[in-house]
Amino acid sequence: MKGVVRRDRVTTLRDDLPEPTPGEGEVLVRPESVALTGLDAGSWRDGVIGRLCVGVVEKAGPGADRTWERKRVVVEPLRACGACDRCRGGLASHCVSGSWMGLAGPDGVVPVGGCLAERFAAPCSALIEAPARGEPGVWAFASLVGCALNASRGVRVEGKTYVTVLGDGPIGLITAQILASRNASVRVLGRHEPRFALCERWGIRHRHEAEAGRRADQDVVVDCTGRPEALALACRLIRPRGSVVVVAPPGGVGGGPWLSDVGPASSAEASVRYCRGGGARDGLEVIRAGSVDLSPMLARRCRMADAPAALESLARRESLAAVVESG
Ligand SMILES: [Zn+2]
Repeated sequence: MKGVVRRDRVTTLRDDLPEPTPGEGEVLVRPESVALTGLDAGSWRDGVIGRLCVGVVEKAGPGADRTWERKRVVVEPLRACGACDRCRGGLASHCVSGSWMGLAGPDGVVPVGGCLAERFAAPCSALIEAPARGEPGVWAFASLVGCALNASRGVRVEGKTYVTVLGDGPIGLITAQILASRNASVRVLGRHEPRFALCERWGIRHRHEAEAGRRADQDVVVDCTGRPEALALACRLIRPRGSVVVVAPPGGVGGGPWLSDVGPASSAEASVRYCRGGGARDGLEVIRAGSVDLSPMLARRCRMADAPAALESLARRESLAAVVESG
């Protein structure tokens, strides 16, 4: 079976992978489209890559609900055990043994293989039915949109004068669209000139990060950069008693002596909230409602054989995202 595998930081297309066998309560999924972003390019674990996908259920395994067969599904990338105290207490996204498909899990937890292969096994509990008709690629972004939705929830932007989204990657641009629908004064601070044209198209204000003022006057700053050091910038931008939201990558914000940089936020009595991931089911509803424009993320399409090259381009931040199509 074909699949895209990372070993020792080198990504290659392989055609000798073992056929996956669905376990108890699992199904076999044939991906139609797998979305890749910079996070996949920087993924550090070995194994099949890919965390964002839409596909068709080929076969139900033992004990799995057979009505899933032949349905188009989005697969929730975060695998929770469903049995620990957190899962039973409504905190499945913080499952003690939770693991992100194609990325990483906590120390000691066997990582879950990714979805960029001809087939992969997934538990029925991770399946979300996607619309059967139409072009599938857009649904692969459901989890990413869910993450942006999570970031935008719990932060009040209505009536606020200064709202900044830091970062012009996929999550930053989706978050900016969601927030801009609630407050026209949202602006994006980014580093990539071509993406400013997208903001222009959506009527969202934008500036280069290097040109950002340091007036500590922002009511809300949502940091979607995934860069630990960006928190220092967010903390310099925030006004007294403002709100900083940090969208953490699945593994959390790590590395760098950034803790010392939150000083301005502490003296400003600002609140700093972290959020991580978000439900693919919620994201799917936002896409279905047509509330966000994902066309820039669908612009680069390729076959599985070209996925390693697409990942290199993503690592160099040349493209926003790539969609790997089956066939
Ligand atoms: Zn659990």
